[in-house]
Formats: sequence, C-alpha cells, structure tokens
Amino acid sequence: MAQRLFSYWEHQTFLDAYDVVVVGGGIVGLTAAIFTQRLRPMARVCVLERDLLPNGASTKNAGFACFGSISELIEQEKRNGTAALLQVVRARWQGLALLRELLGDEALHYEGVGGFELFCPEDAALAHTCQEHMEYYNHLLAPIIGTADIFRDATARLPEFGFAGVDVMLENTAEGCLDSGRLMRSLLRLAWQEGVTVLHGCPVTGLESRASDVRLQTGLGNMLAGQVLLATNAFTAQFFPALDVQPGRGQVLVTEPIPELAMRGTFHYDKGYYYFRQVGNRLLLGGGRNLDFSAEATTEPGLTPLVQNRLEQLLNEVILPGQHPRIDYRWSGVMAFGADLEPIIQPLAPGIYGALRCNGMGVAMGTGSGQRAAAMMNSQ
Ligand SMILES: Cc1cc2nc3c(=O)[nH]c(=O)nc-3n(C[C@H](O)[C@H](O)[C@H](O)COP(=O)(O)OP(=O)(O)OC[C@H]3O[C@@H](n4cnc5c(N)ncnc54)[C@H](O)[C@@H]3O)c2cc1C
Repeated sequence: MAQRLFSYWEHQTFLDAYDVVVVGGGIVGLTAAIFTQRLRPMARVCVLERDLLPNGASTKNAGFACFGSISELIEQEKRNGTAALLQVVRARWQGLALLRELLGDEALHYEGVGGFELFCPEDAALAHTCQEHMEYYNHLLAPIIGTADIFRDATARLPEFGFAGVDVMLENTAEGCLDSGRLMRSLLRLAWQEGVTVLHGCPVTGLESRASDVRLQTGLGNMLAGQVLLATNAFTAQFFPALDVQPGRGQVLVTEPIPELAMRGTFHYDKGYYYFRQVGNRLLLGGGRNLDFSAEATTEPGLTPLVQNRLEQLLNEVILPGQHPRIDYRWSGVMAFGADLEPIIQPLAPGIYGALRCNGMGVAMGTGSGQRAAAMMNSQ
C-alpha cells in the first residue's frame, strides 16, 4: 500500500500532540471527552474511534433508561450486598439525570413510559418473591429516586397489552426509554461544538507509556498524548488482558411496522434476559444470552439460530401472539461484564486510564462514568 502523506494542515489540525486522547467513541468515551474539555477549556482533546460508526454497544442497544427491575435488584443485592446495590443504582439514576441534562429530553426522544417486568406461570415463585420485595425496594431506593412510589403491581393492566402466557406484571414507574441513535448523534455534535476532535475509522493498535507522555500506534500513524483514556469497554483485553472485563454479546431484532401497535413502556421478561419495547410503530426485541453464555462471551459481531429462533418464538407466541410480523432488522452489540457491579474507572499505567464496564446498563451509567473519568484525569 502506498505510504499516506499527511499535509501540514492535517498535522496541525488533527494529528499533532494532544493533551488527552480518548480511545473509543461510545457513550463513555464521548462524554469523558466533553467533560474533559469543559474542565480544561485550553486542552487539546481527541476521541479515536476505530470504526466509521461506534462499534460496540452504544448504537446497538435497546435504549432503556432503566436502573433495575425487581428481580434484577434482588439478584444483584444477593450477589453483591446492599451497599454495592445502592451505589450502582445511584450511579445509574444519576447517570441518566446527567445525560438528560447534557442533551435534553427532546434531543434524546426521552419518554418516561414506565418499565414492566413480566412473569410467566413457570416463574410464579419468583413473581411472588418480587411482589413481596416491592415495598422493601420502594423504601430502600426512595432517597435515590426521590419517591417511594417506584414499584407497583400492574397485573390488572395485562389485558391492555394482549400478551399470552403472562400472569404477573410489575411496574417500575420511574423507568423510561430513549432513542439511542439520536443520543449518539447529539453527543457527537456536542463534542465537536465544545472543541473535541473526533476521528472515526482510526483504530489504536498499541500504547506505550513514556516519561512524560503516551505514544499511541493508530491507523493514522503514531500520535502523542499527555493522557490516554481507554473507553473501549468489552474490547479492552487487547491492551490490558488481566482486567475483569468480560464480553457479552446481545442480539436484537426489529419487526416491520405494525399498524396500531400500542405497547407503551419498556418490558423485561425472564429475569431481564429478554427485553422489548415499541420503536416508532415497530417492535424491538433483544436478549437470549442466557441460552448459551459461552457462545455469547465474544467480541465478534454475529447472530445465531439458537438466539434468533428463541426471539422469534417469544415474539410470535408471547408478545404478539399469532401475528407473525416480518423481521426487518437484526443486529448484535457487545456489552462488558465483571464480578463487581461498579464500573472500572481508574489509572491503568503511567498516563493511561480506563473508564470501562457498565455491566449492560451504560445508557444509564455511561455519562456518569464519563464525568468521573474526566475528573480523575484532571486531578492527576
Ligand atoms: C444489545 C444491547 C442492548 C443494550 N440495552 C441497553 C439498555 O436498554 N439500557 C442500558 O442502559 N444499556 C444497554 N446496553 C448497554 C449499553 O449500550 C452499554 O453499556 C454502553 O453503550 C457502553 O458504552 P461504552 O462507551 O462503554 O462502550 P461501547 O459503546 O462499546 O464503546 C466502545 C468503543 O470503543 C471502540 N474501540 C474498541 N477498540 C478500539 C480501538 N483499539 N481503537 C479505537 N476504538 C476502539 C469500539 O468500536 C466502540 O465504539 C445494551 C447493550 C447491548 C449490546
């Protein structure tokens, strides 16, 4: 391949040394760059995204503005303890508030539609446990959410939706949804407006901490930065393989337009392993990682018959029984999980920092992680 020759202008404007380079142009990377630029108005801040569009989770998700359904809260409290649960719920709730403040509800198409957790007859025992825990979580989370009327039994509303084989429905009145495409476009626009340079199609292939800076090997050649933030989420093992950042692929489908579809809300099914909502007049449905955890523990994009068939079965037998709508879109995205509920926001090597692992809830947590990462780098 012919050597690429960069002009004086390209060097001066786009390639010469930056104060801060953020690797990864998802929600966390873009918000970290914006908050860094706000904290340090004179700094040269750049985001390097390897793909033409962000290619992890931020443009692939379901757009639930959520902080935990009852069954998730019970499970997470059991696994990590009450203090850790409260901390992560606070991070999700405050992260959402910060995102809404940063971009505005109109730009996000944010709607406070309420979230609904559905239980089939085989999950009767779990449904009962969740019903019993509603009051407990209403009080536990009230200081964070600002109301004790968070969870309520909405089983009486089931006929409105026409599901088959669902006999209990619990509502989270504080949950909402947004348009993930608009979110990312608005973040990109804001980043450029505030002085951040965002370069797409520029993978970072190597990092070297040096005495006073970090050298990055990139698709545009070597670059220098005073500080580097890795916001590479599930893809971080390429740089720091020992970190507890495990990839988890999520598969999604969207139906053809369905006349008179009226499914206002965000819906969680089977302990949150499946989720669906209306987008325009179509239905978006995703999940099924639990069918084969090890096959889905990958950063490779892809669809599998196992998961796609189960999604279609759920669609045609439970959500829209007997309707069999055509599927117009299918895709996958990759989340990052770890044993702790907390994201990793910490120094990783001299001059190199990380803001990683939203445990599948980065729409909610991502902006707070970006803000914390910017503050951390500014304090060094
Ligand atoms: C199917 C699905 C559904 C989801 N639904 C929801 C939901 O409803 N609500 C919710 O709160 N969360 C949801 N999530 C999770 C949420 O989308 C993520 O937690 C969030 O987007 C993570 O943001 P991020 O910026 O950390 O990572 P990412 O968006 O993954 O961004 C990381 C970026 O780094 C780039 N990158 C990687 N390596 C390099 C490199 N070497 N050089 C340059 N760039 C690189 C990648 O291309 C990628 O764009 C969902 C995720 C998926 C996959």
